[in-house]
Amino acid sequence: MKPPKRRRKRKIPDPGIARLRPGGFLNSRIPVSQADKLLLFDIDGTLVDTEGAGLGSLEDGFFNAFPHCRGKDFPPLDLGGATDGSVVAFLFEHFEIDDHDGHRELFFDEYIIALDGRMGDFRNRGKGRVLPGVPELLRELEQRDDCLMGLLTGNIEAGARLKLRYFEIDHHFCFGAYGNDHPLRNELGPIAIDRAEGMSGQRFEPQRTVIIGDTLKDIACARAFGAHVIAVATGGASYEQLESGKPDVLLTDLAKTDEVASAIDSLFQ
Ligand SMILES: [Mg+2]
Repeated sequence: MKPPKRRRKRKIPDPGIARLRPGGFLNSRIPVSQADKLLLFDIDGTLVDTEGAGLGSLEDGFFNAFPHCRGKDFPPLDLGGATDGSVVAFLFEHFEIDDHDGHRELFFDEYIIALDGRMGDFRNRGKGRVLPGVPELLRELEQRDDCLMGLLTGNIEAGARLKLRYFEIDHHFCFGAYGNDHPLRNELGPIAIDRAEGMSGQRFEPQRTVIIGDTLKDIACARAFGAHVIAVATGGASYEQLESGKPDVLLTDLAKTDEVASAIDSLFQ
């Protein structure tokens, strides 16, 4: 009998940033204690457009992790606002793969390898972009002592870290709630608040918190824990679709820093 094939050991890319603690990463300055507004940013469609790198990497990562499934159709995925945790559960069910920690780890390791490859390739080819006004807005908000910025995203933490690092905006964020924290996006708000407290020593009530995101799921997530929400129509949902979700503020994009800063302030008056 032939011995089982040994898996080739592959190196998982590490963007080289020391993780401070679970859910917290990056080398942003230590948040100032007088911050009284918590700003939680979604990533895809809000801060950056990876032009399909995430979706392609999920597919590549999946077939690399489970090569016996190659040849079968990869199902269409609706990633807008979904968590990576829920996506993997769907894929495992679709391909009849046992859903346990070992398989999840295998899949996400391959996903990160694939994502790192695609993002590097995209950068070389000039694909993918930071959305209009985002670098300026993040720089402006970071100067403000009254705001603490974090992430609330369906990406797993390693994926979030990679994407932001490729677009060189990672240093603005020192913590977040991620798609590996809970499969349901609506459960991520309280996790983000706990992480904000862990990083700053300060407790932010939901009414002092605003989510900035590009889908109806971001709006629902904010409502689920009583936070404010600014919707921005730079992702998968149109302005009209977002309007139907009744966000507190709806913007076409984040291009005008003063307009976004004013919108944030208007929520807390
Ligand atoms: Mg999004």
